[in-house]
Amino acid sequence: MRLVPAPAGSGIVFRRTDLDNFEIPATGRNVAKVSYATSLMRGSVLISTTEHLLSALIGFGVDNVIVEVDNLELPILDGSALPYVEAFHSVGLKRQRRRREYIRILKEVEVRDGSKFIGVYPGSGYGIDYTIDFPQPIGHATFRGDLETGDYARLIAPARTFGFREDEPKLRDMGLIRGASEQCVIVLTAEGVQNGPLRFADEFVRHKVLDLIGDLALAGRRIQGHVVAERAGHAMHTALVQRLLRDRSAWELAHIYDELPQPADQSAEAEAATPDTDSPAAILPDTLSVHA
Ligand SMILES: [Zn+2]
Repeated sequence: MRLVPAPAGSGIVFRRTDLDNFEIPATGRNVAKVSYATSLMRGSVLISTTEHLLSALIGFGVDNVIVEVDNLELPILDGSALPYVEAFHSVGLKRQRRRREYIRILKEVEVRDGSKFIGVYPGSGYGIDYTIDFPQPIGHATFRGDLETGDYARLIAPARTFGFREDEPKLRDMGLIRGASEQCVIVLTAEGVQNGPLRFADEFVRHKVLDLIGDLALAGRRIQGHVVAERAGHAMHTALVQRLLRDRSAWELAHIYDELPQPADQSAEAEAATPDTDSPAAILPDTLSVHA
């Protein structure tokens, strides 16, 4: 997989180099099937397991990038977003001249399915409030954070995928577990974690937050608002994106610091001179290869 810098305004676009560079933009319009992972499809071309890379890109602050892949599945790596974030850290971020555009939430949008719930509300940062309730040994847990002020790389990126041993044959049939599965997923039985230690005592709910950030990237821009999720998963996350994108009265495109006074000279050419409060869009400065 290669990550290639893209012009401001491009967003995140997948490119299948094995299929004549066919492109699939990472937007809610292209969401295909969603079960244990999120897949995108345009025409008959599929890209599967997009959520961890998208989460790492949003969490690290990359707005515009072309993701070149030579097959339909993104690398699972260690089941978290940490290897991506470490690779991004090694090259850093380059600010673009254009300001970052946000989807600013103006009113609530909610999706409910039995005891599962997800909603997004107006708010100043990018708040996330996630509650899970799984069979033991996971149980009930809540994580609260804010992507604008929090530390994604430290608090969220290392949290790994998890699964119950009893679901393994099903996951294997669906192609979601391959090879040395215990290297890339926390394996659980009713007795406890089979391949510990955990990276955080509450690693499970943190991984759900990681997945949520990746799935909400399919809104096409960073969200300015507050997300509340209870017992949700990829299907609920992507349903929220689609409902949000359809309801044009629920959001507006905005620059996050619109409400602050702008400097008199808007024509500052030097990217290095862009003040922090201007919230510029950002790219990785060079092409970056990530090997599975
Ligand atoms: Zn995941």
